[in-house]
Amino acid sequence: MLRGIKRLNRYENRILKIVKLGGKLVRLKQYGFSSKTEDGFRFPIYVLEIGKPKAIKSNVSGLIAGVHGLETIGIRVLLDFLDDLFARKNSVLYHEIKNGEVGIVCIPVLNPGGVALKRRSNPKGVDLMRNSGVEAVKAPFFFGGHKYSNLFPYYRGKVLQTESRVLDRYFKEYFLKAENQLIPVVDIHSGFGTVDHVWWPYASTHEPCADEDLFQKIGSNFTNHLNHFLYRFGPQSETYTTHGDLWDRLYDKFQANIKETQSPVSRHFLPLTLEIGTWSDINLDPLKIFRKRGIFNPSRELKQKSIVSHRKFLSDVIRLAKMNPSDIY
Ligand SMILES: [Zn+2]
Repeated sequence: MLRGIKRLNRYENRILKIVKLGGKLVRLKQYGFSSKTEDGFRFPIYVLEIGKPKAIKSNVSGLIAGVHGLETIGIRVLLDFLDDLFARKNSVLYHEIKNGEVGIVCIPVLNPGGVALKRRSNPKGVDLMRNSGVEAVKAPFFFGGHKYSNLFPYYRGKVLQTESRVLDRYFKEYFLKAENQLIPVVDIHSGFGTVDHVWWPYASTHEPCADEDLFQKIGSNFTNHLNHFLYRFGPQSETYTTHGDLWDRLYDKFQANIKETQSPVSRHFLPLTLEIGTWSDINLDPLKIFRKRGIFNPSRELKQKSIVSHRKFLSDVIRLAKMNPSDIY
């Protein structure tokens, strides 16, 4: 576990550095704890509030990483993005944040226990992205989530896990009542494959979600006008379906709340999952596949290149928080 804990410490140090760099614009909150390891350890889960309090209420966006303990590239993409934002202090987004036009709330590592133990699941052996309780219409056997045993990957768990409940509380505090019309959130993962995917709900069914048209519009705007043509946009079910996706659950909660409150303003909760294809750099370095450990360990230089390449995408998603549906063409 020691190497995993050291890795986690490195991320925590980077978070503290960002807090320092950001000055008054950044607030660090300890938001909860992970579930306990077999030895009784638990790890703090942090939220970073970025921007003026007014913007956190009325122009908020979200960034999350480290849901799966092995997908550390996502954590590094998130931290790199924030580092860059506050180190340069000259981007359009930085000025918008400073002027109170946009706010970001981040959970850099939702599953610190998984990072420390160097595994995908949380310390209880539960795959958080199979844990929400949402039943898929039809999911692939095993990989789509199962209830056999936590000895196997993709275990759904019997109850909503501590980490999943932290995400719930975060959703309720920051997004459920947010006043912006577009409420974008990016959850950063990585997986096998050569393409970077950007998914929206649903993971559980091929039925389109209530915002399918808006998501499609955002996808084509990003592809055709903002030059994000290397990302492949679509509902998650187009790639594969799963039980228990946390965003499916929160998306439905938001929809239910809209119906209950009959709010006159149209508000759209837009959770996006960025799934970074970890084989994408094979195109740049085809010999890599022949090297030992090559596929799973991109060379340092290429890794850094890949991490940096997502800055503009994240910035463009966050900037949706100050727009209206009619701004997207
Ligand atoms: Zn993942």
